[in-house]
Amino acid sequence: MIDPIYSPEKGRYDNMKYRRCGKSGILLPEISLGLWHNFGDVNPFANSKAMAHYAFDQGITHFDLANNYGPSYGSAEETFGMIMKKSFMPYRDELFISSKAGHDMWSGPYGEWGSRKYLMSSLDQSLKRMNLDYVDIFYSHRYDPSTPLEETLQALVDIVRQGKALYVGISKYPEQAAAFAYNYLQERDVHCLLYQGRYNLLNREPENEGILRQAKANGTGFIAFSPLAQGLLTSRYLKGIPEDSRMAQGLFLKKETLTGGLLDQLRALNNLAAERGQTLAEMSLAWVLKDDMVTSVIIGASSVNQLADNLKAIENTTFTAEEIQRIEQILNG
Ligand code: NDP
Repeated sequence: MIDPIYSPEKGRYDNMKYRRCGKSGILLPEISLGLWHNFGDVNPFANSKAMAHYAFDQGITHFDLANNYGPSYGSAEETFGMIMKKSFMPYRDELFISSKAGHDMWSGPYGEWGSRKYLMSSLDQSLKRMNLDYVDIFYSHRYDPSTPLEETLQALVDIVRQGKALYVGISKYPEQAAAFAYNYLQERDVHCLLYQGRYNLLNREPENEGILRQAKANGTGFIAFSPLAQGLLTSRYLKGIPEDSRMAQGLFLKKETLTGGLLDQLRALNNLAAERGQTLAEMSLAWVLKDDMVTSVIIGASSVNQLADNLKAIENTTFTAEEIQRIEQILNG
């Protein structure tokens, strides 16, 4: 069957809000879409495509990928590549697309971590899978304590010089390594556009470890991944573990995480969200976005309905001092 030709919503930029990414020319949508889950070759293509279309129709211009997203590894990029070819190619210049290398990707000594050999060859593979000539941003996906940081960072600089990425970023770097990276890149006239880190109501590391402040001081944007704690901070698990949920798969979100204590906290947060006229998912995203040091949240979704729910978060991202206090009481007892 021939696919009907995709035509994006004309009003796609009417409702989304965009934030400037650190000190740069780039604006990113407050909500970005990540393809870590639900875009692999194990997932129905029609659903993945429907989510990508819906996202762009709603003004989500930023799609976040990495070499090994799937499963299988590489297949999320292939899925996105098919969507690029079938639907998004005429809109390439309206999109901000990322990829990363750093985690386990292929066998042998050159298929993970931070060597120049791995980063360079991985990006070449990613571009082919995604049907792209360049990515908008390429990240070092994790800090590699065994490779000289200069080697990893120089690979990022050279990738920009080659025109294979317009910007670069780092993900999950400890503070000291991030400081080194910001300086190294800046001295070579390559600004580090984004720091990507896990940040949500249940995980405050970027706040507590100074990563948010450090990024701001460097003019680098901060983009939060897993802002819903992989689904914990939604209504998904309030009444048990649904069979089609990430927790039921048990790979990245373990059942043991959902203790009675956590469930009590989630239920209390859910009540507070309802008082604000939001779902728990909406309030959790709004909470991350209340901070102007955050440029965008990268959400995951397994359906268009989830995406639609999450997009409503941007309607109210302000919290009263009393609400903040109640949240802290719920989480810290
Ligand atoms: P989230 O914390 O947003 O979790 C997404 C999951 O939450 C969905 O798959 C779905 O679970 C559930 N969910 C989402 N919205 C709703 C809703 N409205 N109601 C009920 N359940 C909902 O993000 P992810 O953990 O998926 O990460 C997002 C992105 O961040 C990734 O795709 C990736 O791009 C990036 N990332 C980067 C990392 C890095 O190292 N730099 C590491 C991890 C992620 P279900 O599937 O069960 O329906």
